[in-house]
Amino acid sequence: MSDDGERGTPGKGLVQGLAVTLKTMTQRSTTQQYPDVEPDLPPRSRGVIALLEENCTVCMLCARECPDWCIYIDSHKEEVVVPGAARARQRNVLDRFDIDFSLCMYCGICIEVCPFDALHWTPEFEYSEVDVLDLLHDKDRLGEWMRTVPPPPAHDVLGEPSKEEATAERKAAGPGAATAAKTARPSVRRTGSPTAQRPAEQRPAEQEPEK
Ligand code: SF4
Ligand code: SF4
Repeated sequence: MSDDGERGTPGKGLVQGLAVTLKTMTQRSTTQQYPDVEPDLPPRSRGVIALLEENCTVCMLCARECPDWCIYIDSHKEEVVVPGAARARQRNVLDRFDIDFSLCMYCGICIEVCPFDALHWTPEFEYSEVDVLDLLHDKDRLGEWMRTVPPPPAHDVLGEPSKEEATAERKAAGPGAATAAKTARPSVRRTGSPTAQRPAEQRPAEQEPEK
């Protein structure tokens, strides 16, 4: 019986159900046969986090910003004698860097806030464990993931060069190039008016005062 109280054709629902089954049976399956067939993941997929230990300065930003508090860092200070310097310098040495992937929610904040590019996403996702405690990856294990980090995407050819590239190009061109680049800039008058700050050729034509 339908919702409005009318009695439908007997067996209509059964026929409709069989029609859906028949249609699905004749369609091509879209199921991926994992693990027999590896999934084709986008290169920037969030699988696991890799650590480039040499870049880590133990600034603790990642551990402080992690919303799950699942990054554990220990370090100690070491004196470095610099020849010619009045005093020995100090540097942080990383003793422990663990991420607990049983707590991690893959938000990527730690990677975003790291100022030294020490943390990277890798699309590697096959690290499930029988024991949940084994999901605590230490710095050696996090370091091993670095070999699975894909190369960064190429720069936009139409984009501006980075500050570092521009400086390197200027240095390679020699000391005269920087001066030439400065003098080649259009002269800009700094006044309060936004129009007056544009180069002369870009300003709108000034109107003659009426006589
Ligand atoms: S991805 Fe998010 S939750 Fe996981 S370790 Fe980084 S900041 Fe913490
Ligand atoms: S933010 Fe980067 S440099 Fe700072 S402790 Fe974390 S991984 Fe190391």
